[in-house]
Parts: sequence; C-alpha cells; structure tokens
Amino acid sequence: MSDPHELTVLNPATEETVATVPAASAEDVDTAVVRALRAQARWAALAGADRARLLRRFADTVDAHLEELAQLEVREAGHTVGNARWEAGNARDLLLYAAGGAERLLGAQIPAPGGFNVTFHEPLGVVGVIAPWNFPMPIAAWGSFPALAAGNAVVLKPAETTPLTALRLAGLALEAGVPEHVFQVLPGHGHTAGRALVDHPDVAKIVFTGSTSTGREVMERCARLVKPVTLELGGKSPNVVFADADLEAALDPFSFLDNSGQDCCARTRVLVQESVFEEARAFLAEALAAVVVGDPADDKTQMGPLISRQQLDRVRSYVPEDAPALRGTAPEGPGFWFPPTVLTGERPDGRAAREEIFGPVAVLLPFADEADAVRLANDTPYGLSGSVWTRDLGRALRVSRAVRAGNLSVNSHSSVRYWTPFGGFKQSGLGRELGPDALTAFTETKNVFISTEGPAQ
Ligand code: NDP
Repeated sequence: MSDPHELTVLNPATEETVATVPAASAEDVDTAVVRALRAQARWAALAGADRARLLRRFADTVDAHLEELAQLEVREAGHTVGNARWEAGNARDLLLYAAGGAERLLGAQIPAPGGFNVTFHEPLGVVGVIAPWNFPMPIAAWGSFPALAAGNAVVLKPAETTPLTALRLAGLALEAGVPEHVFQVLPGHGHTAGRALVDHPDVAKIVFTGSTSTGREVMERCARLVKPVTLELGGKSPNVVFADADLEAALDPFSFLDNSGQDCCARTRVLVQESVFEEARAFLAEALAAVVVGDPADDKTQMGPLISRQQLDRVRSYVPEDAPALRGTAPEGPGFWFPPTVLTGERPDGRAAREEIFGPVAVLLPFADEADAVRLANDTPYGLSGSVWTRDLGRALRVSRAVRAGNLSVNSHSSVRYWTPFGGFKQSGLGRELGPDALTAFTETKNVFISTEGPAQ
C-alpha cells in the first residue's frame, strides 16, 4: 500500500529513488480550486493577445529548459533521451500553437430578423486535468495549454509515478510571468486527489487520460454533476499490411515498441495479408533481435524499461514463457525490463489480441482479403489509432473509412500532431484534443441577440 502523504518517484531503469514529493489530499485540491477560481477571473479578463503573449513567453522559457525537462523525463519515466527531447519540444510547440488560438477565438455573427446575433466562446472556469505516466509531459500539455489559452485556470494531477516534469512546467509558467494559480500542479493519488478533482463542484470540466476502466469511473462521477469530460483511453490498434505494401516500412517494430509499447496508439495488432505472412514473420524476427534495449540516457538506446514493477507484472501476464513468439533481448538485473516480443500463436479472439497490454508486445495475425482485414481491424472494443499499408490509393481510402478509429495513417505510423485532432472511437474515449478546435473544447458557446428595433414607443 502506498504512503497516502508522499509519492516516491523511482527511476524505472535502476529502481533508485529520484525524488519524494508530498501527495495532495482532498483538502489540498479544494484549496487549489478556490485559488484557481480567483485567478481565472483575472486571467479570462485579459485580452486574448495578452494571454497569447504570456503563453509565448512560457514557450520560450520551456525552450530554454528543454534539456533539463528531457533529462527529468528520462529519470522519472525511463524514456529514451531522444524521445524525451521530442516530448519537451512538443510541450513548447503546443504552447505556441495554443497562444495563437487565444488571438483567434472567434464567435459567429448569425443573421436574425429584428436584430443582431452574435456568439461568444466563454471559458469554462477551472479545468481539472488528470494525466497518466506513459507520456507525462505531452499529455499534461495537451490537456492544459489549450484550456489556458481559452481563458481557463488549470489544476493538473499528474500520475503518482511521474509528477516531476509537470511540477517543473508549472514552475516555468510562473517564471515566464503566467499569473500565480492559473496553472497549478498537484501530485497525488488517483483515489484521493484525482477523485477530489473530479467530484469538486467548482471544477467545470475534467480531461482524463488513462485506462478505460478508470475513465469509465471518472465519467460516472462527472455525470452526477453534469460535468463535461474528455476521455483519452486505451487502444489496441491495428497495423493493416497488404501484400503490395513496402513491407520493411510497414513492419517497423517501433510502431509498437516506441516508449516500450506504453503508448495508447501502439500498433499492437499486426495484421498481414496471407501471401506475405511468412516473409513478414521472418522480417520481424530479425528486426526484434536488432533492437537496442538498455540505458535510456544513452543516445544509442532504442527502447528503455517499463514504468514500474506493477506494469512489468501486468505485461508478463500476457506472455507465458512457452508462448510461440519472436523475441528480442532486454537487460537483466535492476529495472523493469521486458524484451520486444511478437506473439505468433495467438487467436484473434485471445486475451493478448484484444486487451491493451501496454508493453513491448504485439500479436501477428494473417488476413485473407480486404473485407477480412477490416473485420479483424474492427474486432476490439477500442478505436483509437491504426495504420494501413498499400500502394493502392483507392483501397487505402476505403479501408481508412471502414476502420472505426479516430486517428489513421496511410503508409505511415504517425498518430499525433499538435495541429490535428486526436481522440478515439468506441471505448478509446470521448471528445478530441489538439488540432484547430482544441480551444473551443474548453469553452461554452454563448448566444447573444441584440434587438435593433429600439424600445417600444
Ligand atoms: P489509470 O487510468 O488508473 O491512471 C491514469 C491517471 O488517473 C493517473 O493520474 C491516476 O492516478 C489517475 N486515477 C486513478 N484512479 C483514479 C480515480 N478513481 N479518479 C481519478 N483519477 C484516478 O492507469 P494506471 O496507471 O492504473 O495503468 C493501468 C493501465 O491503464 C495500463 O496498463 C494501460 O493499459 C492503461 N493506460 C492507458 C493509458 C493511455 O494513454 N491510454 C495511459 C496510462 C495507462 P495514480 O497515478 O495515482 O494512479
């Protein structure tokens, strides 16, 4: 049982303690929300251009501390240093993008007889963001920065295993001149601080990223207060590889190994057309063996550890020692290591083929034709992401439209860009983050009709 008053942050590559951080109680959450409410009124009263200017200064401050943030992410989350640098850059870039949104939060003028009708995008007030441990810095940023740009205050609860980059971002916001209590970070346990944020009557919206089961609970609790919620939940995304595809690009093992597979968009269901199935298996066997797994601080490392002992045990439970599989290697000794793995004897309806494992483990499954590929791709409760590989453009479009998922890539494994919308179908979530509409998700539309008829004589 973890200490209710303190969080111990471990380096997942060494199991050494990186830091201990006080854990927020429900009372701390209440205090933060009261402060946020006061600060938000002043923040929302600023002209959009002034909020934008402060957020650009915040971006410059993040930029000046990019390496520090990246190294912190390596230590607390075990991310490879190359990935961690990208993540810090992503937080900076999103700040710049959201800042522009503050200047372009446009309403509409709608023709109405007898008057003049306009809409306003009013900020919601205080937004609660609950972030997971898999991408601590980007996901904290995606939930928080567009909300700030739209004139809201944010109270962010990072995952208990990874609070350090979020805390540092809040410090950098203050250094940049963002007013006190506009962006607060409260490390704490989900069942205390997280729930208190969800249940707080003055928190106007919750943005939650994490497991589908916790997301369901968050949504139920929000429903009692009719509180809007954005949910970014699990995934079990397909990589649909037709026989005419560029097989080497399509079977890039980092489509499911990036961040040690702790990625909601990981393409963990590798669906390959029967005629090239054996070729694909042979290619993946070689590719897994070549993956460099080790010290995430080393620039040459391609894959680091899992986040925690708990996650390691969970991943192991999907891969019995005698399971038919292609396997790479992983370090022995301290740290939460698991080798790159592709299960080759799994049935499409098996547990490992349908459930989110959140580790460096994929399943390899054959399909016969286009209809079979679409059926298999849709055969999970999730619908977050996926890839389609073929040189036939018509087929690429047909399959992209038929797969029920929020983010698809054709002849690419990319998923997330801060300027395009991101979110899931089915049990992968509700609502969208990022993209051109990111700010409006943190506003209420207000309609105002102004009569031009003049007072009755
Ligand atoms: P959770 O969904 O439980 O945690 C995500 C965040 O929610 C954390 O900040 C957590 O706090 C918080 N939280 C937990 N319980 C509550 C609650 N009752 N009310 C409000 N907030 C809460 O994920 P886990 O860390 O338990 O990971 C388990 C599995 O979830 C993974 O193996 C993976 O499959 C999936 N997952 C998916 C993610 C995704 O991006 N799709 C991200 C992370 C996990 P605390 O850290 O204290 O638990």
